[in-house]
Amino acid sequence: MQKKHGQETIIAHCGRNPEQHYGAVNTPIYRASTILFPTLGQLDAKDGAKLRYGRRGTPTTHSLEDAICALEEADAALIAPSGVMALSVVLMSFADQGAHFLVSDNSYGPTRKFCSQLLSRFGVETTYYDPSIGAGIEELIRPETRLIWMESPGSQTFEVQDVLAITAIARKKGVATAIDNTWSGGYFCKPILQGVDISLQAGTKYISGHSDIMLGTIACTASVYERLRETYLRFGVCVSPDDAFLAMRGIRTLGVRMRQHETNALAVADWLASRDEVIRIMHPGRASDPYHDVWKRHFTGSSGLFGFVIRETDRTALARMFDGFTLFGMGSSWGGFESLMVPSNPSVYRTATQWSPGGQTIRIHVGLEDPADLIGEIEAGFARLKSA
Ligand SMILES: *Cc1c(COP(=O)(O)O)cnc(C)c1O
Repeated sequence: MQKKHGQETIIAHCGRNPEQHYGAVNTPIYRASTILFPTLGQLDAKDGAKLRYGRRGTPTTHSLEDAICALEEADAALIAPSGVMALSVVLMSFADQGAHFLVSDNSYGPTRKFCSQLLSRFGVETTYYDPSIGAGIEELIRPETRLIWMESPGSQTFEVQDVLAITAIARKKGVATAIDNTWSGGYFCKPILQGVDISLQAGTKYISGHSDIMLGTIACTASVYERLRETYLRFGVCVSPDDAFLAMRGIRTLGVRMRQHETNALAVADWLASRDEVIRIMHPGRASDPYHDVWKRHFTGSSGLFGFVIRETDRTALARMFDGFTLFGMGSSWGGFESLMVPSNPSVYRTATQWSPGGQTIRIHVGLEDPADLIGEIEAGFARLKSA
């Protein structure tokens, strides 16, 4: 019913049923563990009830699931108390004894650790592959391959994957696919429509948009939903109604925020490209980026997170630059309304490919501030970098 509407309309209306909540526009915060059944007959029939126990969800968390399902154009959705919990549920759901996983080499660190340090103990083997592999993935698929994991663009190095090519092969071979869709916020990319079975996000980032909750979202096709739900229920995964409410509030402004992040980030990236200190920019939304063409086939826009590389420098000079920032915060995470910048070292994670860009890699999240102020701040930072 929602698919015939435009994306902005879906964002304004998804996950709301005012008539079920005394006319309140937003689903209120329901705090509940025990759900009471008035008759023995209804208690006996509770297994079929939408509400049966707090851990199984409340109207507040169900609203958020409905909204994520609509946003990602999926058949079903589950929510988790962090992005890492969401990705753990997905990975665990395919961890049959003796299973083999294919995981993109640019994947988020904890995704790799879940495979290499936890699932390996249960006999699950992981092969990391070059994110640029495209249709070449076919050669890595074994009879026991159960899952192909993608992250596009990689949240440290920003390679864009040929998801359409990979899902075509995965479908032919009967292998499930999952993607970390955090970068697009679910706004600029709809992986389920590109043949991916599972699209998950750290809702902590753009879905929240305000740097004050932890959340994970899993959107999926009907074909894998029962498998995922089984793992989810066995682990007792559940989300607080307060966090679900704040996530719903974030979603209502997702469209305007994402488009402004895009504009601001492109302005900052274009300015960086004009600077002598900068030797490389990793932003697939820019025409000169090596992944721009593949990005155009999969995304309708770009978010606020990208990377760049400055000429090799020492830690002291780098500290002079970073310590003087007042608008750019230093810290983990991104996707909030505010700007962040951190030096990064992606090469330590990789095993299938190398990252040696010939300088210091920096990751920037461009927030909703006036981009001219952000550019002024970086310009002053570059001056500090050079002052001996
Ligand atoms: C932050 C992040 C996660 C993990 O989300 P948390 O909510 O911090 O657990 C997963 N994937 C990507 C790409 C992220 O940036």
